[in-house]
Amino acid sequence: MNLDELREAVVACNGKPFQAKQLAQWLYGKRELEFDRMTNLSKELRNNLQQRYRLLTSTVVAREESGEGTTKLGIRLHDGMIIEAVLMRETRADGAERVTTCISTQAGCAMGCRFCASGQLGLKRHLSAGEILEQLLHLSVLMREQAQAVDWLTNVVVMGMGEPLHNFDNLLKALTILNAEWGFHFGARRVTVSTVGLPDRIRQLAEQGYQFNLAISLHGVDDASRTALIPTNAGLAKILDAAKYYFEQTRREVTFEYTLVGGKNDDLDTAQRLVELVKDFPRANVNLIPMNPVENSGLETPTTEAVNVFTEELRLAGVNVHVRRRRGRRVQAACGQLRLKLEEASSG
Ligand code: SAH
Repeated sequence: MNLDELREAVVACNGKPFQAKQLAQWLYGKRELEFDRMTNLSKELRNNLQQRYRLLTSTVVAREESGEGTTKLGIRLHDGMIIEAVLMRETRADGAERVTTCISTQAGCAMGCRFCASGQLGLKRHLSAGEILEQLLHLSVLMREQAQAVDWLTNVVVMGMGEPLHNFDNLLKALTILNAEWGFHFGARRVTVSTVGLPDRIRQLAEQGYQFNLAISLHGVDDASRTALIPTNAGLAKILDAAKYYFEQTRREVTFEYTLVGGKNDDLDTAQRLVELVKDFPRANVNLIPMNPVENSGLETPTTEAVNVFTEELRLAGVNVHVRRRRGRRVQAACGQLRLKLEEASSG
């Protein structure tokens, strides 16, 4: 709920409008999951809220740890759908600890990327704004249990299951609550939205007046090769135009993600064409992701040598390139893999 909705809820429970902010402070600011502990609300208001509302609609049904700072949660929604949220802890070169979560926006996905486990079953449904944010509340519980020095997220990436911009309104509502001072008060510059590249929605997000980071999944250097991996490809020219527009409106650097698929898009010639493609782009960042193996995809992970040659080519051309470290291979870390496993277990 946003602040207006919380106000209505509080008033319907015999509370005063100003108490909506107190409720928001408990729920989003302190991530308190028991009405009864919201001690500056009257006993009556707490009881009324308790009777009419639930603070969580989903439950954590699986938890897998990689032993290298990565934990993946399998979360069951009220209607039995399963989504995933991942927590990653890492200490950076300068000693700062970074705690990033990767959250989902849909159960399943309609984009159909050939190398993606979430795409294999198609779209089940959009998540509500509440379901998107509830993932953060489950992670908050997990982080309290971990009892580490850094006890809250430093970064949120909307890069889990689903295509965020395909669920635009709910995504925007969730991000608004995440960013708002009365909400989670989480800085927009610490939030990244990753998209397969829906040009109109990229433009729409650019016009909201926020400074969220945008990551675009490229994966191909021309439309033929891109469409072979992403059947719903909207067209590279349109996507890159929209990305430029995003940069102009927000002044945030755009990141290009590039999943390297063995023998499909990981050769030297392709690397050179990728350089040409991103070279004119203002301060382009390229994140290379060696494909995580996905069963029944018929696609192969790239060789270490291919990854190195590809990376070096970009680096020599002056592109700001990073190879995404493989984390949590033991936690079914590729997009949608844990869910596939959980669904197979429950159907079999
Ligand atoms: N739909 C959004 C966000 C979810 S996917 C998008 O397309 O960006 C997040 C990233 O993981 C995307 O770049 C996606 O292409 C990549 N990805 C999905 N499955 C993968 C796999 N098996 N190996 C490597 N990268 C994968």
